[in-house]
Amino acid sequence: MSVLVFVEGLNGEIKKSSLEAATYGSQVAQQLGTTATAVAIGDVKEDALSRLGEQGIERVLYDGDERLNQFVANAYVTVISKAVAQENASVLVFSNSNIGAAIGAKLAVRLNGSLATNVTALPKTEGDSFIVTRGVFSGKAFADVALTGDLKIIAIKKNSIEITSGGGTATVDKLSAELTDADFSEKPKETVMQETDGVLLPEAAVVVSGGRGMKGPENWHLIEDLAKELGAATACSKPVSDMDWRPHHEHVGQTGITVSPNLYIAIGISGAIQHLAGVNSSKVIVVINKDPEAPFFKAADYGIVGDAFEVVPKLIEAAKALDK
Ligand code: FAD
Repeated sequence: MSVLVFVEGLNGEIKKSSLEAATYGSQVAQQLGTTATAVAIGDVKEDALSRLGEQGIERVLYDGDERLNQFVANAYVTVISKAVAQENASVLVFSNSNIGAAIGAKLAVRLNGSLATNVTALPKTEGDSFIVTRGVFSGKAFADVALTGDLKIIAIKKNSIEITSGGGTATVDKLSAELTDADFSEKPKETVMQETDGVLLPEAAVVVSGGRGMKGPENWHLIEDLAKELGAATACSKPVSDMDWRPHHEHVGQTGITVSPNLYIAIGISGAIQHLAGVNSSKVIVVINKDPEAPFFKAADYGIVGDAFEVVPKLIEAAKALDK
């Protein structure tokens, strides 16, 4: 019996969301009195893999097949399945990232496991029962779900686990899943990386987001400057990307991406339900809007009623002063 964590790489490093999964997996292993191993695929440097020891991972199985540098769901499922069998894993953990969401159900079917996605807390284990808490209804509620069977599969919601550090160094062993052409029946043509000066939106712990209240793209330097000072990613409402003020990959909400940062700052956004659907599982929401009746204030932890063009420059100055 052991815990296996699937970790994702990006530009040779381990993604932050996977460090969260590694921390979670190690803590589950401690709970169960066993060890945590990780399985990594594709473009990750060996020293980044060893550093997973800091999150409590003892050993990493690494399949460096270059065909896996691009995400191919079936091939990833084959590699992870092989690692599960080799380690006789009883718990499999990964991030509820885009990749995690694409492979979760496939892994559950292939390995006959029980799957819980969007998990926000460590399991409650007593005797044979294994209960995890998951966010449901766009983060408006939580459900306790019992996982059963020989393999429990847990996809962790981003930013819900504090990354630990200070463990040892993980040993890295090669894994070869002996992939066949059948594993590559889907053929991704190209992977297009989001261009960013700093933090990737889906991974960000802090997000500064602008809406139509920003009046036009010429004012976006205010959103960008505040984001830079806070080490945040930038985002926007749907009309803003529809009008080409910002690229579509920044659009959050029901028809855009879902984010769950520790802090979401919404500037000049009304707070329509379709927007809230993508952001309301953020830990803390700050709303800046000149209309005191704006619906977003109902979902906010902190609100500033005021003109963005007066408030945001003051916030930037305050953030700069904090840095000094
Ligand atoms: P507005 O509604 O125009 O609000 C602008 C806000 O800025 C107002 O509250 C105003 O008081 C404030 N403001 C104006 N000037 C200032 C100032 N100087 N200082 C401070 N505040 C100011 N929307 C999404 O965002 N994401 C989605 O995924 C999404 N999916 C949708 C799916 C469907 C099927 C539909 C029908 C709609 C969807 N929408 C989505 C659109 C959504 O309903 C809203 O129309 C949209 O979110 C509004 O964007 P906004 O808040 O930027 O603009």
